Amino acid sequence: MSVIKKVLIQQHVSLADKNWFKTGGKAELYAAPQDADEFSQSIVYARQNNKPITLLGEGANMLISDTGISGLVIHPAFKNITYKTKDDHVHVTADAGVSIHELIDSCLEHGALGLEEFSGIPGTVGGSVFINIHYFEFLLSNFITEATVINAVTGEFLMVNRDWFHFGYNYSTLHLASYYLVNATFKLKLAETPLEVAYAQGRRKEIIRHRVSRYPNSGTCGSFFRNFHPEEVTLESMGKKLIYVAYYLDKIGVKGALSCGDAVVSYQHANMLVNKGNAKTADIITVARTMQQKVFDAYGIVPQPECRLLGFSEYPLMR
Ligand SMILES: Cc1cc2nc3c(=O)[nH]c(=O)nc-3n(C[C@H](O)[C@H](O)[C@H](O)COP(=O)(O)OP(=O)(O)OC[C@H]3O[C@@H](n4cnc5c(N)ncnc54)[C@H](O)[C@@H]3O)c2cc1C
Repeated sequence: MSVIKKVLIQQHVSLADKNWFKTGGKAELYAAPQDADEFSQSIVYARQNNKPITLLGEGANMLISDTGISGLVIHPAFKNITYKTKDDHVHVTADAGVSIHELIDSCLEHGALGLEEFSGIPGTVGGSVFINIHYFEFLLSNFITEATVINAVTGEFLMVNRDWFHFGYNYSTLHLASYYLVNATFKLKLAETPLEVAYAQGRRKEIIRHRVSRYPNSGTCGSFFRNFHPEEVTLESMGKKLIYVAYYLDKIGVKGALSCGDAVVSYQHANMLVNKGNAKTADIITVARTMQQKVFDAYGIVPQPECRLLGFSEYPLMR
């Protein structure tokens, strides 16, 4: 006998406690599927009821409109991690709902090395594959071999390999919203000695210590604006295009100096906006627009967000 589980769809669920900025309105409908089948049922439910779908991980890279999100917000809440060892590697498959933090801890317990370079980055596997998280020269896509994705219309599953994602800086095929991530498999090095694991654990602690001392780690989405593409800028330093948006933001002197209500530009990092307590999304947008205007006035270019803007009827920033 097969057991058919029904996914729970809730109405008017607050999203302000489900994202890192701690702002934004409610989801018209909300589901937190506990396994891949419930994920599929949620999609089918939305399509049958003509509701748009928005995926939500930890909300560590999004700014949600004060009016909330219409349609169904799906928060994958399944968190299995499995391990297969082959020769000197481990193939680790993690569900979309696993946090990067949990994944790294579990990998190190199993002697699987490599992902510790992403220590201290908040978010789920789903959101992290979506944006292809990066830290210095490390890209998450360097470790991915295959994945299961789900069709955003039919709810059917598809096995894909790394090439399917067309990974780039801040980019994967998931941006097209035709498929969502169900799980991803990472090929990691198998530790040969306990010393190698201890070294990786030390590196993890050091990266976190470094990040905590340098960047705000609450009430923010991390970097708000993406770096420029080389063709967008003319300024050069030592023969190389100056693509780092933080350089321009530092020059215009917004760090710790610009605010609207409780929304401020961090005093630690010019590209990080922080909700000090009671900011609204509208306050964050006001600060972000002012930053764009100032960079435009000084350099003739307009920074664009890395942070995903969700639930806005019109694009709220400068293009
Ligand atoms: C303090 C701080 C520091 C940060 N530092 C870094 C850093 O060093 N490097 C870096 O790269 N990023 C950094 N970020 C950004 C953030 O950690 C990453 O973008 C992270 O991957 C977001 O994951 P999430 O689960 O919270 O995704 P969310 O913010 O919930 O979603 C992000 C996007 O992914 C989509 N999405 C979510 N789940 C799925 C899924 N299963 N299938 C398809 N689409 C999905 C959402 O619809 C949305 O468009 C930082 C953020 C913070 C708050």
